[in-house]
Amino acid sequence: MGAFPEHCADGVALAAVADAFDTPCYVYSQTALRARYQAFERALEGVDARVCFAVKANPNIGVLGVLADLGSGFDIVSVGELERVITAGGAPEDIVFSGVGKRRDELERALDVGVGCFNIESESELERLNTLATRRSQSAPISIRVNPDVDARTHPFIATGLSENKFGVDVESAATLYQRAAGMDGIEIVGVDCHIGSQLTDLAPFSDAAERVVALIDRLAAEGIDIDHLDIGGGLGVDYQADNPPSIADYVAAVCQAVGDRDLRLIFEPGRVIAADAGVLLTRVDTLKPAVATDARSFAVVDAAINDLIRPALYDAAHAVERVGAAGDGAVTRIWDVVGPICETGDCLANERELTLAEGDLLVVYSAGAYGSAMASNYNTRPRAPEVMLADGDMIEVRAREAVADLMRGEKRLLPER
Ligand SMILES: *Cc1c(COP(=O)(O)O)cnc(C)c1O
Repeated sequence: MGAFPEHCADGVALAAVADAFDTPCYVYSQTALRARYQAFERALEGVDARVCFAVKANPNIGVLGVLADLGSGFDIVSVGELERVITAGGAPEDIVFSGVGKRRDELERALDVGVGCFNIESESELERLNTLATRRSQSAPISIRVNPDVDARTHPFIATGLSENKFGVDVESAATLYQRAAGMDGIEIVGVDCHIGSQLTDLAPFSDAAERVVALIDRLAAEGIDIDHLDIGGGLGVDYQADNPPSIADYVAAVCQAVGDRDLRLIFEPGRVIAADAGVLLTRVDTLKPAVATDARSFAVVDAAINDLIRPALYDAAHAVERVGAAGDGAVTRIWDVVGPICETGDCLANERELTLAEGDLLVVYSAGAYGSAMASNYNTRPRAPEVMLADGDMIEVRAREAVADLMRGEKRLLPER
């Protein structure tokens, strides 16, 4: 499927990756990753724009390095992500720093390295940054994150652009804040920012948001505040299963149309649309529990679980799943629930999929390159899966599988008092 035709990518078979690195295992295609980034560059040809990959979608240094090499900027939400970008070779001046609660030490470190823009989400944050920057005789470049109050029509957990959400400030407050910022010694106004949600499959909310933000930019200009860039955030959706998202080119065109002939630099913060389809999760069938009663469900228990990929449990996400290679002896065709071994009923990777399976068969879970390994945990003391980048016929382990000893590091056994 997609970037992994016939279960291969970059000249490597997924079955060979499973043999070499065992399962569960995340696999990325360098070719696919590059192609998604370059689709943005092509769509933006002739436009003054920058793509800042949203690190939270996939913070692996191997992944970030491929994008840094292509000239990508980065959208970060923590000092940890800042250190990752620097380690991966990203340029600090091409970083935008988002997030609704940036700590003082995080602001300080970002001032140390000189990030390109602080996306400010509250009056309090603006004051704090001004104080810190003034004390250091610096002028911190900022945009204010506007909450344009548009309905992104996505899963409520990943909708961020409604007035009821915690993110940004409303348009009126933003206008007031810009006036205050204009009088601050430690602040340099460079942009206006918004981000309305994730996994959007409709262009209308993007157009609505862009129009509202552009109207604010016009108003600020009339009040004597010039804005250099419009940061439209991320959020473009991908095709997990019949989601039918717009193309990158159509998305870029819709934003450009809202901007018209204004002299504005554009910043995009895509995460999912760049990384999701460039990655898969490999897992093996451990145990089959076919239904006994006619109305019962059949379970294929696999060696990956919601600690590896939480999206199905958290967002009701439907990732495509296929068997890789021939089915094993005695394979059974059924409607299977593909579940993990974790002690939670919600530990389900895919609901009701028709598959022909035997124990030991290899499965591929598609579109797992974004918010997959990034959201993995150690629940049930399960070591996190390795991550392998495929490139030019090679398998490069960009993150080793954790050992149980890694999981106990920093813990302490208390001896009983006698
Ligand atoms: C999560 C996030 C993004 C990326 O969203 P995608 O849906 O992965 O494109 C961009 N900007 C901000 C501020 C975010 O919080």
